[in-house]
Amino acid sequence: MAIALSEISRKIADLDNIPTVPALLVPLLKRLGEPAEDVNVTEIVNLISYDKSLTAQCLHMANSPLYGRWTPLDNLRTTVIALGMQRMRDIALSCTLLTLVPRGRTSVDPAVFWEHSLGCALVCRQFAHKIGFPDPAKAYLAGLLHDVGVVAELCVVPEEFQAALDLARSQGIPLHEAEATALGLTHCDSGKIVAQNVVVLPDDPRNAIQPMIAAIRKLMAAHSDRSFDGIGICLPGRADPLLEEAIFAPNLKWPIASIKSRIQKATELRVEMDNVANACALSEVWFGDSDGLHDLVVVNVSEGIGTGIFANGRLLRGANGMAGEFGHVQMDAEGPECGCGSRGCWETIASNRAGLRYYQEYRGTAVPSFAALLKMAQADDACGVKALEKMALALGRGLRMIASALAPSEIIIVGDITNAWHRFGPLIEMELRKNALSGVPKLRPSFEGNAARLRSAVALVMNGNMV
Ligand SMILES: [Zn+2]
Repeated sequence: MAIALSEISRKIADLDNIPTVPALLVPLLKRLGEPAEDVNVTEIVNLISYDKSLTAQCLHMANSPLYGRWTPLDNLRTTVIALGMQRMRDIALSCTLLTLVPRGRTSVDPAVFWEHSLGCALVCRQFAHKIGFPDPAKAYLAGLLHDVGVVAELCVVPEEFQAALDLARSQGIPLHEAEATALGLTHCDSGKIVAQNVVVLPDDPRNAIQPMIAAIRKLMAAHSDRSFDGIGICLPGRADPLLEEAIFAPNLKWPIASIKSRIQKATELRVEMDNVANACALSEVWFGDSDGLHDLVVVNVSEGIGTGIFANGRLLRGANGMAGEFGHVQMDAEGPECGCGSRGCWETIASNRAGLRYYQEYRGTAVPSFAALLKMAQADDACGVKALEKMALALGRGLRMIASALAPSEIIIVGDITNAWHRFGPLIEMELRKNALSGVPKLRPSFEGNAARLRSAVALVMNGNMV
């Protein structure tokens, strides 16, 4: 690999604009989205006319077979009136996409790329109508932008992207597989980075806080028309809220001391910091459809396992905020060593890391990431399936302990494993149901998959407002 993966991710995350959305698009879309009685055709025509190439493309597309016109439309005003606002919106959006694709640096033909995106957009909208999806325009936009990761890669690493493209063509494999080999990430990953504003931190943790502050400032500047309530930070460990020191974070490889006060000082915003599982429990109460009065436990399965307990209408914290460390309850005295210093803790047999270890034991070789393991299992790779089944059973066994200890009405799982819930959820549930003591709690994955962790940071700030 000519360029390191972290370097690519960082470059994509640093892309300020993809590349530059024409400045007129935002006001144009706003105008086109106005209720019919407020639409001002002259203003729309004026806006589009600012950009000569957009004008030409709009006219070209309006006259394409897609809209089945008998008489040619040769001026913008007639076009806007003849096609209507919805179609003009579609045309403006898709023509903008065409202008975003960098030209001449790779063998990607912008027109072909654009046709593919447009085709997907049209199909998405058609499906949306068919299945009664409430917002067909959103489906159209999603289809149109589904390959935005390719645009990012074309801008940032054109040569490496070209290598992936050549590999895909010469070996007849899908582009994302070739990208995984040539770049170490796929355009789905790149798209995610673009869409979510991911900040890739330096490997050295001592240099991590400054880029975080810079990213927060950038985000605030980009949305200066909004007010900000605060900043939520979710930690994969326990931090003492007063001392600001990590008191228990076996999986956190870098010092978090003073992170809260430094960000608070730099941004002049209130910063709320808590354990990620606690934050997820609050998030389920705030945003989920769980009845807030219920007792629920969120089990966060990633590198380790953390649990957040919401009982009797509040988070259960315990002495030093240490309640809920079920991940470090010993399940097997002879089990693997754990980061906490003990052996055979629940997280050593049921976390993502355990799944990766099981795979290595079955196959003899390692798999690079949990996401890759999930993909293999989805493709019915025998060792991949066996490894995740073993992990699922171990998860279910631990949930029995939680059900017996706390008798929650609901247990919610957060983490990558929920991406394959249809397959492994039933196994987890089967183990849980072996619980003989209390009634069996309802078990479900978090509705938003991994976005649950992101949103939980918002819940921290909202909860802070209440206190
Ligand atoms: Zn442990």
